[in-house]
Amino acid sequence: MTFITHLACSKCAARYPAGRPHNLCTTCGGPLLVHYDLDRARKEWRREALAQGPCSMWRYGPLLPVSKPESIVSLGEGMTPLLAAPRLGARLGAERLYVKDEGLNPTGSFKARGLSCAVSMAKELGIRKLAIPSAGNAAGALAAYAAAAGMEAHIFMPRDAPMANYIECRMFGAQVTLVDGLISDCARMVAERAPAEGWFDVSTLKEPYRIEGKKTMGLELAEQLDWKLPDEVLYPTGGGVGMIGMWKAFDELERLGWIGPARPKMIAVQAAGCAPVVRAFDKGAEHCEFWPDAATVAAGLRVPKPLGDFLILKAVRDSAGTCLAVTDQELLDAGQLLAQTEGLFAAPEGAACVAAVGKLLQSGFLKRDETIVIYNTGAGYKYLENWVTRFDVAEAAESRIGGLVLPR
Ligand SMILES: *Cc1c(COP(=O)(O)O)cnc(C)c1O
Ligand SMILES: [Zn+2]
Repeated sequence: MTFITHLACSKCAARYPAGRPHNLCTTCGGPLLVHYDLDRARKEWRREALAQGPCSMWRYGPLLPVSKPESIVSLGEGMTPLLAAPRLGARLGAERLYVKDEGLNPTGSFKARGLSCAVSMAKELGIRKLAIPSAGNAAGALAAYAAAAGMEAHIFMPRDAPMANYIECRMFGAQVTLVDGLISDCARMVAERAPAEGWFDVSTLKEPYRIEGKKTMGLELAEQLDWKLPDEVLYPTGGGVGMIGMWKAFDELERLGWIGPARPKMIAVQAAGCAPVVRAFDKGAEHCEFWPDAATVAAGLRVPKPLGDFLILKAVRDSAGTCLAVTDQELLDAGQLLAQTEGLFAAPEGAACVAAVGKLLQSGFLKRDETIVIYNTGAGYKYLENWVTRFDVAEAAESRIGGLVLPR
């Protein structure tokens, strides 16, 4: 069951019917967003009914676009734990610090949410060949869900993507093209080849349903905090779709009457080597400028010009939030601190938020008694090559850990 009514352009408001394949707005090129009949949903759907739904993001099916239950392609994504982080909090000076651990999703990142939704919609709409440009985790998630649905997955990823992403895509039977360039170069290659090859482009925001899956991160946060949102949400922002999706989710929850008008301050965290959103925020600009020579170990943050930049900046500003960047050194140190204090091995992107919390507590933007939620968007286990040089590499090489001779 779904309360979907139609799609509408986020820039020019042009309307598009549900139940058909769509990419960007054919009038102005803006991303399309899904709309629901929230007045009807308010009358017919109770939050008490959630507990009877599946223990996955599909418990929010009425606020997702899929109309037939048999279309759903699920590997158990979502309903990740919201973990208290008291020992980390004590070290940083925060009394109510939480980590939403998205690393526990299928394929080890929150990208599973978006691609479960997109592949389910592709199945419903009869699409069989999917293509994606990806910095890594979206590729792995598409490959897995396409395999589960019996569809083709064509993947374009930068040659310097984490090794785990390359191996998982091959493991799931996807066609992988390694590109000497950035995700923006991969996106161009997909756009050029898709029409002739008959591929459907599932680039985030060019495809309107991935964001619907990602928004469930916000729905679950509200449910897990008993319908009282935190004071701040820190989100590692690459394309920013998780943040835009959560912002949309909060709006939908208010219109359902499940939460009030209070919103968390939305804080976009980027890497110093690729921080176009931070730069635009500081300049008071509505759009980002292309960030040249983007470089960071946090592969998910290597997005030089997010398509939804204006929507990220709007969410940050409307919520009285902020944007900041941390260096690779800072985020790797913070990841180790998180691991040692809380037993959580976060992706470098999630670790960036830990570093950001420390900085914002010092600057006074965050207060020690506020409820602060960090999104750890992925599992550190997918990025072993980024951490290996921190430890005794010579010894590891001698013992041939994993059968590999590691770089000295
Ligand atoms: C893709 C990705 C991000 C960035 O996500 P957006 O919602 O597109 O900003 C952050 N962390 C990880 C681990 C990712 O895979
Ligand atoms: Zn438009």
